[in-house]
Amino acid sequence: MGCLALNASYEPLTVVPVRRAVRLVLDRKAELLEADDARAFRSERTEVPFPLVIRLVRFVQVPRRFRRQVTNTFLFARDNYSCQYCGRHRSELRGRQFLTRDHILPLSRGGGNTWRNVVASCSPCNNRKGNRLPEEVGLKLLSKPKEPNHVHLVWAVRRLTPIQAKYIGMFYGEETVSVLEAKGGSTARERGSGK
Ligand SMILES: [Zn+2]
Repeated sequence: MGCLALNASYEPLTVVPVRRAVRLVLDRKAELLEADDARAFRSERTEVPFPLVIRLVRFVQVPRRFRRQVTNTFLFARDNYSCQYCGRHRSELRGRQFLTRDHILPLSRGGGNTWRNVVASCSPCNNRKGNRLPEEVGLKLLSKPKEPNHVHLVWAVRRLTPIQAKYIGMFYGEETVSVLEAKGGSTARERGSGK
């Protein structure tokens, strides 16, 4: 469980480790918006409320490049942990098969490491594709890759508390929260079944 960090504008930025959130508050770089009253964070010298939501005092300009950065954790979450060529879910992969990052237009042919050029692919489909385009080897994408909403991804890979969800709703609207909850629910179920 981490702490939801909001920009000075109240835009949800990310989930940070609680220890880091406490440090930001003690250094007066962030204000504490919500704390878990039932718990306290103890370090050697201090005892402070356990932070659930903090807001940065100064507005942070998040570079576009950072927002677009592709990581496998977020990529696999965006693609619902399923190969975008054969449709198999991670839990259906057998033996030495695993999910990989596939570049639709291969890097060797000028493709970029951008959200619109990468998909989750099982290792057999990725091997079959090699340095070619999907249509050159008879593979077809099940969906057109899009740049995801950063907050959707944070939600998909982390569990948030209802209080943290409230702040997501305040910024993006309640409709977004229900979409996110549906996505978070499926992730939680998957977690229960193992890896
Ligand atoms: Zn596949």
